[in-house]
Amino acid sequence: MEYDHEIVKIAKCECCGIWEECTVDYIHSVEEQFGGAWVCGLCSEAIKEEQRRLGVDLEVAMQLHAKFRETASIDPTMQIARSFLDLLKKMISSRKLIS
Ligand SMILES: [Zn+2]
Repeated sequence: MEYDHEIVKIAKCECCGIWEECTVDYIHSVEEQFGGAWVCGLCSEAIKEEQRRLGVDLEVAMQLHAKFRETASIDPTMQIARSFLDLLKKMISSRKLIS
């Protein structure tokens, strides 16, 4: 395979804001796929998954994903509290089963 544009540029993810060094070709192909926005590998996978799961447009899936990242970054303690609550619920329900 031959690359005509093996120029490396810094691309910023529209969803999580992470910076990545990518070839111009790669940046263009991602932008084409996501309507002019560049998203990192992790976010693009998450967006595609969301799109598949909900059967929505790519744009809607992108917005949903961005919103999710927003709330998660605003309050990380909420995430921890929630998983702790889930754990507690599991412990309580398993105890109920024993008694
Ligand atoms: Zn990202």
